[in-house]
Amino acid sequence: MDSRTGFPVVGMVGGGQLARMTHQAAVALGQSLAVLAAAPDDPAALVSPDVRIGPHTDLAALRAFAAHCDVLTFDHEHVPTGHLRALVAEGVTVHPGPDALVHAQDKLVMRTRLAGLGVPVPEFAAVTAVADAVKFGDEHGWPCVLKAARGGYDGRGVWLLADPEEAAERVAGLLDAGTPLLVERRVAMRRELAALVARSPFGQGACWPPVQTVQADGICVEVLAPAPGLSAEVAAQAQELALGVAAALDVVGVLAVELFDTEAGLLVNELAMRPHNSGHWTIEGARTSQFEQHLRAVLDYPLGATDVLAPAVVMANVLGAPAAPARSVDERLHHVLARFPDARVHLYGKRELPGRKIGHVTLLGERPDGLRDRARLAAHWLSHGEWLDGYDIH
Ligand code: ADP
Repeated sequence: MDSRTGFPVVGMVGGGQLARMTHQAAVALGQSLAVLAAAPDDPAALVSPDVRIGPHTDLAALRAFAAHCDVLTFDHEHVPTGHLRALVAEGVTVHPGPDALVHAQDKLVMRTRLAGLGVPVPEFAAVTAVADAVKFGDEHGWPCVLKAARGGYDGRGVWLLADPEEAAERVAGLLDAGTPLLVERRVAMRRELAALVARSPFGQGACWPPVQTVQADGICVEVLAPAPGLSAEVAAQAQELALGVAAALDVVGVLAVELFDTEAGLLVNELAMRPHNSGHWTIEGARTSQFEQHLRAVLDYPLGATDVLAPAVVMANVLGAPAAPARSVDERLHHVLARFPDARVHLYGKRELPGRKIGHVTLLGERPDGLRDRARLAAHWLSHGEWLDGYDIH
């Protein structure tokens, strides 16, 4: 309990942009987020008055942080499951709990559990020897997709294996380095979707409309909400699937279910149990944002309404330019605000590095088409300080 505010203290492990934006939502509810950050210049550490600096892999640091909080939650999934089990055994409230979170930490555990629940997933197999990957490729077709079971993000930890020779070389190297692996069928998909839901300990569930996510080089670059052209039937299926997974795994907080939209129906790719890039649009585009909903859920407050506030919402990520831009970030922001007065800009206070997510831009409108161009242009200008080739800006 925070004696100054009278509210319970929510502690978020990890000080990235998700914690930063959750903090922003906490402020509106009269609260503030305690943050365990890795460094004082992490995005959330720059804005929260209640920051501890420590490694999320250190049980002693986690324990000291937990002693200061009423509930622990996460900005990422990299806290070792064993540490979380130890904290729970000591009486710490952890949402989502380790038995749920492990399904967002370990792709092999997740695939195995979801398949057991009858949830559609791509065909997959564990890989503990080169022969496992070669056998899978021979049986299910080349190329196939090799993944690190743990530790990957933004496409790091995902490799396309063209043939048995490439499989042998890649798998041997990764196994030598101690990387746990799985292999799966390369899915022929029409597009990628995400179904975002929230669940409270009381068991209340809430879901936003499914969105389309657009990736480049394994990294999410754009989100279109609601997913354009998605039938009401498939949208309902995606929502029911995500709510079902949240209940079956006893998830508390926001759950993002990344989906492949295929000829044969929906397949689950990934789970994330925290606010997610596919839900940033909810800050301006939905009645309740994913960040506020996550807080409500982990505090077991009633969940907020999730209706969408415009026919089309588009979010574009601001990704660091390959080379340092000539214009300062201040000048770039100035220009974007002048050129796109309706753009909602979020910058995370991160140092600019090539390809790094340093912010996002959201636009609301009547149709996704024109909005997409404008969101991409605004995001590109923010990181590059120049317009995108092939676009008429006038
Ligand atoms: P990460 O955890 O690094 O985000 P993902 O498992 O989500 O990794 O994969 C990153 C991207 O790679 C996906 O968004 C998708 O575009 C592509 N991908 C992943 N698995 C498959 C698959 N089985 N078939 C085809 N494409 C895939």
